[in-house]
Amino acid sequence: HVSPKSDIAISQDAPKRPILDVAREKLGIAADELEPYGRYKAKVSLDFVETLKDRPSGRLILVSAITPTPAGEGKTTTTVGLTDALVHIGKKAMLCLREPSLGPSFGQKGGAAGGGYAQVVPMEDINLHFTGDFHAIGAAHNLLAAMVDNHVYWGNALGIDTRRVTWRRVVDMNDRALRQIVCSLGGAVNGFPREAGFDITVASEVMAIFCLAENLADLKQRLGDIVVAQTRDKAPIRARDLAAQGAMAALLKEALAPNLVQTLEGTPAFVHGGPFANIAHGCNSVLATTTALKLADYVVTEAGFGADLGAEKFLDIKCRKTGLAPDCVVLVATIRALKMHGGVRKEDLLAENLEALEEGLSNLRRHVENVQKFGLVPVVSINRFSADTPAEIALVQRACAALGVEAYLADHWAEGGAGAVDVARAVVRAAESGKSRLTLLYPDDMPLVEKIRTVAQEIYRAKDIALDAPVAEQLAAFQAAGYGHLPVCIAKTQYSFSTNHEIKGAPTGHIVHVREVRLAAGAGFVVAICGDVMTMPGLPRVPAATTIDVTPDGRIIGLF
Ligand code: ADP
Ligand code: MG
Repeated sequence: HVSPKSDIAISQDAPKRPILDVAREKLGIAADELEPYGRYKAKVSLDFVETLKDRPSGRLILVSAITPTPAGEGKTTTTVGLTDALVHIGKKAMLCLREPSLGPSFGQKGGAAGGGYAQVVPMEDINLHFTGDFHAIGAAHNLLAAMVDNHVYWGNALGIDTRRVTWRRVVDMNDRALRQIVCSLGGAVNGFPREAGFDITVASEVMAIFCLAENLADLKQRLGDIVVAQTRDKAPIRARDLAAQGAMAALLKEALAPNLVQTLEGTPAFVHGGPFANIAHGCNSVLATTTALKLADYVVTEAGFGADLGAEKFLDIKCRKTGLAPDCVVLVATIRALKMHGGVRKEDLLAENLEALEEGLSNLRRHVENVQKFGLVPVVSINRFSADTPAEIALVQRACAALGVEAYLADHWAEGGAGAVDVARAVVRAAESGKSRLTLLYPDDMPLVEKIRTVAQEIYRAKDIALDAPVAEQLAAFQAAGYGHLPVCIAKTQYSFSTNHEIKGAPTGHIVHVREVRLAAGAGFVVAICGDVMTMPGLPRVPAATTIDVTPDGRIIGLF
């Protein structure tokens, strides 16, 4: 089961079909409804998307996971493999994924287009620039930043307090040198010097808005709602006050159309939008998901991080805003990661260890319970690694059976869709049972502070939350300003149910300390930051960029 080939070699050696053929044969989309970007990528025109409105929607399958460990889980790989497997068992299926950011591509090794024989292709295009959406999002974001400083420069009629400009600039690169800067140095012609900084493009509120917008009009409305600064008496300044939303939407018009690619097995896939999973909701665009549901009977999509973060936000933010609801939630688990949750060190993962596995199953059990709290049916997909033993696999299946949950081994990484048909059949059973009835965790009218407490207690199983006085005041101010109906987007470590990344398994009784809250008025959520979140990552000591190369004939190598 060990693949002798790297992900990029598998991708490049695969016989890809022209994307126009895939679109026509698999989805019934005519060539003139597509904007091709080369032979293997195309945008589906928004006019065509509009014509699909009255079609019935297919079934939505959300792929989430246990709490991540350095052992790796495989949500993207499973999203791809499961969709190919659904096609294997005769279903009309497609998948939706986020677009990768250049920051991690050149930083830490690790694909964002799946892996092994479960990939979307062409992976080097998808991982590098793709169709330019992130550049458009960065341009729209930075246009607004330039308009803020320009407004101040030309007399500041709105009375922007330059100490209270919260709109930073973005670039799609891991560049710690830009985290905290002073801008407008160099004299009067360059404006008024002030502290500023850059975030990575995927952390931009424009990215979150892009991914929640239902159409171009909704996009423009939300862009106008962005709060960029305050006046001296703390009144909000919006993008609309600067008349920026129209030009921003114009920059995003092409990007907003979903990108169509294919899996290694020729299954259609939308790869569109890519918000951070901490300070944003961490899943692909609403437009991709809703369009896919009109085109296929089964749509598989991934939410970032573990189910406590990714699935919770998918449900409480994306589904709340759009009315989408999954028919089944796939929880990806690996024996390796479960053993790490049971205390095994990474170096010792190759040895069978049923005691540690039993201990670590506490983490999977809790995610299963959490999915059930939302009224949804979970199916466990055990992403196979070569060292997994039959006794270990049987133990996971017994533990799941005791919870009334189906669990199957998935070997799509080594075998493609054929390796995941058991999971696919279980997913079809779960979805067709009609038993999933989404109940959101909290109602819109619950006060913001109670929403944070509810997520902390119900999902993270914390004893309580703790708010510093300024944070409590800020939340009260958001509430008073009419933002109390918004959902909360909690940014905390993905490596633990608690806010301490070292605490594995299923901790209880912890306190979730909320250090900061931010309003994302355009995206439509309030971000609660618990612990350190990095909105501009840095590169590691030896970045992946040092091994990525291009041959004289233009072939990209060394990309994972
Ligand atoms: P996630 O979406 O959960 O972050 P991915 O699906 O992107 O995880 O997988 C992370 C990495 O692990 C990828 O490089 C992938 O090739 C690798 N991987 C996933 N599943 C397996 C497996 N069963 N065996 C070996 N490597 C795997
Ligand atoms: Mg992923």
